[in-house]
Amino acid sequence: MDRNVARQLMSATVDFDRPGKQIGVFHVPLSSHDDAWGVVPVPVAVISNGKGPTVILEGGNHGDEYEGPITLGELIRDLDPAKVSGRLIFIPAINQPAVLAAQRVSPVDGINMNRTFPGDPMGSTTRQIASYVNDVLFPMGDVFIDLHSGGSSLDIIPSAVIEPGRTPEQHAANVAAAMAFGAPIAVVIDNRGDPRTATAAAALAGMTVIGTEMAGGGTVSVDALALCRRGVRNVLAHLGVLPPDMAHTVAQPSRLYALSSRAHVIAEDDGVFEPIHRLGAEVGAGDLVGRIHFITQPARHPVELYARADGIVYGRRQPGRVRPGNCCLVVASPYESSPQ
Ligand code: CA
Repeated sequence: MDRNVARQLMSATVDFDRPGKQIGVFHVPLSSHDDAWGVVPVPVAVISNGKGPTVILEGGNHGDEYEGPITLGELIRDLDPAKVSGRLIFIPAINQPAVLAAQRVSPVDGINMNRTFPGDPMGSTTRQIASYVNDVLFPMGDVFIDLHSGGSSLDIIPSAVIEPGRTPEQHAANVAAAMAFGAPIAVVIDNRGDPRTATAAAALAGMTVIGTEMAGGGTVSVDALALCRRGVRNVLAHLGVLPPDMAHTVAQPSRLYALSSRAHVIAEDDGVFEPIHRLGAEVGAGDLVGRIHFITQPARHPVELYARADGIVYGRRQPGRVRPGNCCLVVASPYESSPQ
């Protein structure tokens, strides 16, 4: 798709080339029953000063994940442009309709934004927003930071996420940025090679990429928010965009894990999921990791769930109620021995 179509259909109230701090929106046309010439106003902010890389910071790709958007809002309000060497482009609530609805997917078109990249400027609202990011913002960027949490359905160990690089150099830069974040663990997640995520699209565009997973459960975690605040500043200092004195000391280097094709434990029954372990517990392939109970049928024995990979319990389903196909548990394997 011609990148000019996104530029033609969607315009921002900020000037990305102007120094200083600007806070505005970009407009995504949405012609609805009660607003024929209306738009979806997606928040965007720019803080630019002097020479240095352009970093694009995204939150709210899923509308029920909050540590990232809170962290980015604080930086937008509090950061003195004089502290910046380069340019920060903030999109803290990128899927604005999903964020307003506190839903993973957009209520406008029912689409998960993180499976729509590179987007489509002629498509429905979520695809149009993705195309603005891909076609208008990514060409300006050197680094992409995508702040996710577990969302309503998952609780995940707060962690940096490593997008696999397309070249050895890009991969090394992605790992270095994730290590700079300073989370207890950093996890390589390739979503089975799916190119439709924001981070995969950013990697394809040649940018250095880092993501996060920050707790979840559709709430705000005290510990994950503290880590997110520190980690984003650490990455920006690592990139030279913020001065070193704005970074926080990282006590221990992050331990590296990866999600293999056997990471996910999927329910095959309709019932209530009982996790056996807390997050972070070490498990081996074949270990009992959960049960599905049939609570209206007390005579029926629960079905047992087993880990399919060696590693740690990285994430688990938040609601107890499960149906066939639901992801109950995610096991992250040590990166070196990952079977990928
Ligand atoms: Ca997410």
